[in-house]
Amino acid sequence: MSVTMIELDGVAKHYDAHVAVADVTLGIHKGEFIALMGPSGCGKTTTLRMIAGLDQPSAGEIRMWGRRLNDDPAWERDTPLVWQSYALFPFLSVQKNVEFGLKQRGMPAGPRAAKAREWMERMGIGAFADRSPSQLSGGQRQRVALARALATEPEILLLDEPLSALDPHLKVKMQAELVRLHRELGITFVCVTHSHSEAFAMADRVVIMNEGRVQQVGAPRDIYRRAGNRFVAEFIGGNNIIPGNIIGHGADGLAFSSPLGALSVASSQPEFAPGGEALLVISADNITIAAREAGLSNEVAAEVTTLDFAGSSVTVFLEAAGGTELRAQMPLRDLETLSLAPGARVFARWAAADGYFLRP
Ligand code: ADP
Ligand code: MG
Repeated sequence: MSVTMIELDGVAKHYDAHVAVADVTLGIHKGEFIALMGPSGCGKTTTLRMIAGLDQPSAGEIRMWGRRLNDDPAWERDTPLVWQSYALFPFLSVQKNVEFGLKQRGMPAGPRAAKAREWMERMGIGAFADRSPSQLSGGQRQRVALARALATEPEILLLDEPLSALDPHLKVKMQAELVRLHRELGITFVCVTHSHSEAFAMADRVVIMNEGRVQQVGAPRDIYRRAGNRFVAEFIGGNNIIPGNIIGHGADGLAFSSPLGALSVASSQPEFAPGGEALLVISADNITIAAREAGLSNEVAAEVTTLDFAGSSVTVFLEAAGGTELRAQMPLRDLETLSLAPGARVFARWAAADGYFLRP
């Protein structure tokens, strides 16, 4: 059972005529790791800053445990925010930085130092207590920022692109550490990122935003398997999106007329019926490539245009009838057995049950 901790209810933020956040309604569960993602400028930071109390909503309500939070100043909320530039106090030692929130809360010097030391140890920066932030690496600074935010033992931690200033190998390491920290502390993490791999690797649920609105909320796998609209299908990448018309019923589902010819879609979406336009979405990893035609439905002749290698997986770009571009993703070893190269004439195919419809 998930318990709702924070509610954003029709929250908006306007700067004069400029809309930073148009309308966000979202429930954040106690103890979950939720990632906010979306293109640059879609309102992620603004949403986070409103939860933290650093910006006031222009409309709507933010509640924590059912209580209105809008008018509580940031320092009265227990909603620390860690961001990519860390925002450490440059003239304070690491220890004093970590003690900062405790001092603000009026904790006496002795217990404050002890608590700070506990968190510095926990974050692996105990040896740097007397250094200034400028004498630390990016990764170490990030740990100081986390220790400072967590020293007050908040119920929620807000993170704004916490890994984006780190170099790639450190990024993966810190990513694993954040996940471990989240699991150990059992508190709520709300993390803004523009990286799909980060969001999908760390989060229990992902919120995809565009133009100040929530587009879809769900577990990473569910969003990946079933995008809720065209924006999400394009944003998460790796999808083939084919426009067409649902023209009737066929042997394995609905018959779909498209630039690729007649296709069949075993859709379990009752809202899509014959007689309307639709977009057919097929994930690139559901498309297989064969050298020879097998006479199946959903089999399209195509020519390989280019290959894109990413580690042990490869995306094969194809051009099918009428210039329609398709992409198929497969493990590298499958590519080797097919010996595909640009110019190769192949057949792309997929199961009727692997496609789903979106509204155009
Ligand atoms: P994101 O974090 O998703 O990249 P932001 O929340 O920072 O996006 O910004 C959303 C939009 O609001 C952007 O168009 C940005 O330029 C605008 N914006 C953010 N803060 C301010 C501000 N203080 N004054 C005016 N416009 C702002
Ligand atoms: Mg931002």
